[in-house]
Amino acid sequence: MAGSAPLVGILALQGAVREHAAVLQDLGARVRGVKRPSDLEGLWGIVLPGGESTAIGLLMTEYGLREPLRSGYLPTFGTCAGMILMARRIEGGEPPWLGILDVAVARNAYGRQRESFEADLEVGGIGQVRGVFIRAPYVTEVGHGVEVLARDHGGHAVVVRQGPHLATAFHPELAGEHRLHAAFLAGLDGPAQAPVGAVAG
Ligand code: GLN
Repeated sequence: MAGSAPLVGILALQGAVREHAAVLQDLGARVRGVKRPSDLEGLWGIVLPGGESTAIGLLMTEYGLREPLRSGYLPTFGTCAGMILMARRIEGGEPPWLGILDVAVARNAYGRQRESFEADLEVGGIGQVRGVFIRAPYVTEVGHGVEVLARDHGGHAVVVRQGPHLATAFHPELAGEHRLHAAFLAGLDGPAQAPVGAVAG
């Protein structure tokens, strides 16, 4: 890994940041909270945590982070709201935020009955994972380059990977689960190069 520990950003505008930091540090990564474009410098990848995707998306836009992240140059791991932020399409007509993951997602897809629940999932390449779902989305459509690594009880994709990007509908960081973060780290290979002009500072 280029002789040093991977440096991973965690978008720190809203949502569960600390838990992701703990998991990444346990795995030997260096972490940095990301609040402004200059925080992106030198990152190998970034985690978009759960929270409220509309709130995070609006803040991301206001803080000038949407444009650089939209180019997809930075390997991205989104959990729950993070998955929604990454999606190419959001069911219901809400415009997409980053569009770096070729999937469509439905927000709050499990409805009121199952607002929040835990489920054991079989994740490709990893094994059984305990998923904590909190007003979670699921994937309704998957593009060609997207690999589905896990499905829920109803057959909906809930873990997807596309190149260096990874997304889960649930919160692995709240179940003490480290293997998905480890899989994300395994796909990083050094500081990502921002396209010219994408990071304004
Ligand atoms: N329901 C939230 C949304 O639509 C996501 C919930 C979460 O991240 N736990 O943005």
